[in-house]
Amino acid sequence: MSDTSNPSTHDAGRSDLLGLSPEEVDARLAEHFETRGQVRYRADQVRAWIYESSVDSFDDMTNLPMDVRHDLSLSFMLSSLQLDTISRSTDGTVKHLWRLRDGELIESVLIPEGARLTLCLSSQVGCAVGCTFCATGWAGFSRQLSAGEIVAQFRASRAWARQNEYGPITNIVYMGMGEPLANRAAVHASLTALNRGFGVGSRRITVSTVGLTPGIRELAARPEQFGLALSLHAPVSELRRTLIPMEKRHPLPELMAALREFRETKGRRVTFEYTMIRDVNDDEALASTLADLASGVRAFVNLIPFNPIPYQDWLPSEPERIAHFKRVLEAAGVAVAIREPRGRDIDAACGQLRANALVRPQGAPKAVGGSAQRIR
Ligand code: SF4
Repeated sequence: MSDTSNPSTHDAGRSDLLGLSPEEVDARLAEHFETRGQVRYRADQVRAWIYESSVDSFDDMTNLPMDVRHDLSLSFMLSSLQLDTISRSTDGTVKHLWRLRDGELIESVLIPEGARLTLCLSSQVGCAVGCTFCATGWAGFSRQLSAGEIVAQFRASRAWARQNEYGPITNIVYMGMGEPLANRAAVHASLTALNRGFGVGSRRITVSTVGLTPGIRELAARPEQFGLALSLHAPVSELRRTLIPMEKRHPLPELMAALREFRETKGRRVTFEYTMIRDVNDDEALASTLADLASGVRAFVNLIPFNPIPYQDWLPSEPERIAHFKRVLEAAGVAVAIREPRGRDIDAACGQLRANALVRPQGAPKAVGGSAQRIR
C-alpha cells in the first residue's frame, strides 16, 4: 500500500497549522509576525486559539485586529470538519460522521468508560486493505487524510464533548476508518501534534494496525511511548489470510518478529484484538495457538464477540466458547479480557455510517440487518 498519496498540508500556498508540531507552529507564526513588523505576542494568542479552542477560521480569533486575522488567512489554514450525522448510543458512545472540505466523509467515535473518554480516530477516507469483515473496506479507498484532518477530528470531538458534558478526552486510539500505518507521514505528524501540542500523553495514545511491519518498526523507533494494538483475529496464517489480505504480504512470523522488537525497544505490552466469529475463528484448537502467540510477545489479549454486520451472515461465538478461550489463555499465563462492543445500537462499527451514506458497494449482498462492527 502506498504512503505517497497524502493530501498536501498546504492549500493554495497556505500551511495547515493543525498538522504541524508545536515547535513548527511557533516558528511559522514568529516568522509571519516578524516579517510584517507585528508584535510577537500575537503568536501566543494564535497558539492559544489553536490548542485550546475549536475555531477553524482566523475570522473567529476575536482578540486579534481584523487586519491581522486577514493576513493570517492568506498564509495559513486550519483543517475543518462539518458535522454530517451524529449517532448517540444508550451506552453513551457517540459517533460523528464528518464531511471534509472536498465532500468526503469520515467517522470518529467517542467512548465514555468511567473517568475515561476515548476518542477513536480515522486515518484514511475508506481503506484499501479489504478485510472481509469490515464495512470500511467494502466502501473502498478514497484518499489519505492529512495530519491536519486527523487532528481536526480531535478538536471537533473535544468541542462536542465539552458542550455535552462528556469531560476531557483522556485517550486516543487510531482505530477508526483506514489503516494508520498505510498513511504514516500524516499519522506520525498527527501523533506529534496531539501529544506535544494538545497535551495527550503518549501512553494514552494507541495506534492499531492489521500488521504493516515496516510501520510497526517506525513506531518503535519514535522516542515517545505510543501504544500498539494488533488486529490479529486468527492465530494461523492460513485462516488469517481469509480475513485480512495483508497477511499475505506480512505473514505472522514476520509480524511476531516486529512485535518482539517493539516490545524490547519500548518495554510496552502490545495488545492483540481477537474478534470471535462463530465457526470461523473460534475452533477450540485455535485457543492454544493464540495462547502461544500471545505468550511469545507477552501480549495482552482482548476477546471481542463479533457484532453481526450487513452484507455478511457471520454470528458472534457462543458465550461458552469465548469463556473457554479466556480460560485457555489464562491457564497459559496470558493476560486477557472479554470486551463487549460499544454502541451496538448506533452502527458504531467503523465505516458503517459512511457506508450507509454512500451507495451500497457494488457486488455487496443485501443487508441482513443488525448494526455493524469494525474489527480492528
Ligand atoms: S479492518 Fe482496518 S485495515 Fe481492514 S479493511 Fe477495515 S479499516 Fe481497512
